[in-house]
Amino acid sequence: LQPIQGKYAVTLIPGDAFTGIGPEISHAVKAIYAAAEVPIEWEEVSVTPVLKGGKTVIPDAAITSVKRNTVALKGPLATPIGKGHVSLNLTLRRTFNLFANVRPCVSIKGFKTAYDDVNTVLIRENTEGEYSGIEHEIVDGVVQSIKLITWQASERVARYAFHYAQANGRRRVTAVHKANIMKMSDGMFLAACREVSGDFPNIAYDEDLLDRVCLQVCQNPRPYADRVMVMPNLYGDILSDMCAGLIGGLGLTPSGNIGRDASIFEAVHGSAPDIAEFGANPIRKIGKGLANPTALLLSSLMMLRHMNLNTYAERIEKAALSTIAEGKTITGDLGGKATTKEFTDAIVKRLHAQ
Ligand code: ATP
Ligand code: MG
Repeated sequence: LQPIQGKYAVTLIPGDAFTGIGPEISHAVKAIYAAAEVPIEWEEVSVTPVLKGGKTVIPDAAITSVKRNTVALKGPLATPIGKGHVSLNLTLRRTFNLFANVRPCVSIKGFKTAYDDVNTVLIRENTEGEYSGIEHEIVDGVVQSIKLITWQASERVARYAFHYAQANGRRRVTAVHKANIMKMSDGMFLAACREVSGDFPNIAYDEDLLDRVCLQVCQNPRPYADRVMVMPNLYGDILSDMCAGLIGGLGLTPSGNIGRDASIFEAVHGSAPDIAEFGANPIRKIGKGLANPTALLLSSLMMLRHMNLNTYAERIEKAALSTIAEGKTITGDLGGKATTKEFTDAIVKRLHAQ
């Protein structure tokens, strides 16, 4: 990545203005970045679907921008239900080969939850599995859904998990599975992980069942702080929400989609239609102010570290986490009364005071 006139171009996909909280939380991130004087030039693009050959697709301009910048921050996009719509999230994953979804989940010091020592890293296979989108009705009343597992995708995500463990000082990789039931598909996923583990003699490797992991992490998350968990698509979806619950909810958990052709950073949560300003008035752009922008902000900090802009990431992280720990100006999901803007302003104030 090369800065132009001292600034790095990053694609910003604020998300769905009419159904979700994307624009509100993107706005907060932009305000915080301006205050911290991060050398980034946001290239804002719309991904509101357009009709092309009878199908809804992402506008070309969005794709071109991500292609050019290779780094993007993305607000949540609602997953459309029903025929004739291709999930935009899925399209982005396929277009840019975003094969690994990294989801760290760390307790915030000073913010009280059941545990104060959660520190999990989960790596979710991002392109296939139960999300292959192959479903059909065999006969009336009988529907089949295909979970697709390939050696290539399993090997690729496993290798990324080991690399991540090595680069981040984690001693172990645990493959999470249900190969006792899905003997062939999860069985092959495990075989790929096992083979890759041979190339990393200094990283320990083991396997555990998804249900057991859920139970154990809930009972005592501490042993999971030393490792990286890698798993097929759907398991990662569910387990990461469970981990989020342990540290204070979906308003706090970031993620990065690491790909061959680009990397796109986004919150773990969805568009949260229940707290968004429905059918938002395009003139009044800010919604109800209930959304917590922390998850998107922390995702953007993963992005900054990916770009080697670590000093900026640390400054912003300190300002955000101490605002949460102080507990005076936090959003409703964390038990506070502050609006999105009040919380954002509190972070900006701390940045100025640093
Ligand atoms: P989608 O279909 O887009 O995933 P969803 O209905 O599953 O949407 P999520 O966005 O996954 O909704 O959110 C689940 C719950 O967590 C909702 O009650 C939502 O309000 C809450 N939530 C999610 N993100 C946030 C946030 N950033 N701030 C506050 N609450 C949030
Ligand atoms: Mg959801």
